[in-house]
Amino acid sequence: MKIASRLNKISTYLLTEINSKKQKLIDEGKDVIDLCFGAPDYATSAHIVAAMHRAIDDPSTHKYPPYMGIKEYRKSAADWMKRRFEVEVDSDTEVIASIGSKEAIHNLYLAFVEPGDYVLIPDPGYPTYRTSTILLGAEYYPMPLLAENGFLPNLLDIPTEVAQKATLLWVNYPHNPTGAVTSLEFFTELVEFGKKYEILICHDHAYSEITYGSYASPSILQVPGAKDIAIEFHSCSKSYNMAGWRVGFVTGNKTAIKSLGKVKSNIDSGVFEAIQRAAVAGFATPKADLQQLMSVYQERGNVIVNGLRYLGWPLKPPKATLYVWAPVPLGYTSTEFAALLLDKCMIFVAPGNVYGEAGEGFFRIALTVPKEQMQKAIERMEVNGIYYNKKN
Ligand SMILES: *Cc1c(COP(=O)(O)O)cnc(C)c1O
Repeated sequence: MKIASRLNKISTYLLTEINSKKQKLIDEGKDVIDLCFGAPDYATSAHIVAAMHRAIDDPSTHKYPPYMGIKEYRKSAADWMKRRFEVEVDSDTEVIASIGSKEAIHNLYLAFVEPGDYVLIPDPGYPTYRTSTILLGAEYYPMPLLAENGFLPNLLDIPTEVAQKATLLWVNYPHNPTGAVTSLEFFTELVEFGKKYEILICHDHAYSEITYGSYASPSILQVPGAKDIAIEFHSCSKSYNMAGWRVGFVTGNKTAIKSLGKVKSNIDSGVFEAIQRAAVAGFATPKADLQQLMSVYQERGNVIVNGLRYLGWPLKPPKATLYVWAPVPLGYTSTEFAALLLDKCMIFVAPGNVYGEAGEGFFRIALTVPKEQMQKAIERMEVNGIYYNKKN
């Protein structure tokens, strides 16, 4: 059997390997603390599950769904964009349902990326931007996100030759893995950059609702004229605890949406209609419910940040996302430190380098376990003498 050479150029998705290692330890009866996996730990809300029950009892949902998504879903997504960001999008031509963002991210490449093209990706960043580039035989250009720049890329550092050959540019704020957030000013710069070089600006807004305190994450489509050159990816996975349901939407530039639709109509058959109806209930989630969930994540963030600060880490509480991004102690690489936490403390964290070269020197903690587990993790670190300023 001959496996396509492109498959040898990528590795198995990071979390797949880490998960099987974790499962092995759990099967051995080890008390593992998993601070690695970025999936919400709460059940999907009852009102969404109830909408699914109603929808699945209606046999009209059992047929092939329309490729772009049912009208009701696209309309509901457009209304949500209006309510949430004051952004007007046409539900017929500027919104497409996705089977979760990950699928749509890859499928966008099929529409826009050819061998030899450049794709500008955040480093560190969500691994799919990079692997999809490789699978398409194109070149990726990592935009380093540095702490001193607030983890925003410096667009002036992108060589003109690269910008001229680029077809897509990815950003993702609130940002996985650093937890960084951004402002409309930065999005304005990006839109100008996209127009100057004719690069489709792709904003992955998977954490739009996962924000703490008074911070509200802006949409890139709030920038006047953004729809000329930008699209935004929304997902129900994190906002509404619907990671397993596989549903989201992409909105913005008409040509991009239409092209994505053309790809999808050829290779998938749309989101199960019952799930779209359930997601409509998700968009209507009362604000108070969301706030309550955010206060749970925020409290966990505070427990881990205060704990790590107690062990010497220089950290601030996160403003958004399900993650805390922390430097490894001096003398360790990311991989070494993650291995140390696993060997000595049975704690799984994600080594920063798996998100890109600029992630080296960091590790990522996910806020997806109860705060008691976070406290226990800190205690285990202290017992084992793992401090920020001391090599063991
Ligand atoms: C979780 C995540 C996604 C994937 O979302 P799905 O809709 O579940 O596919 C996309 N981008 C980023 C940055 C994420 O963290």
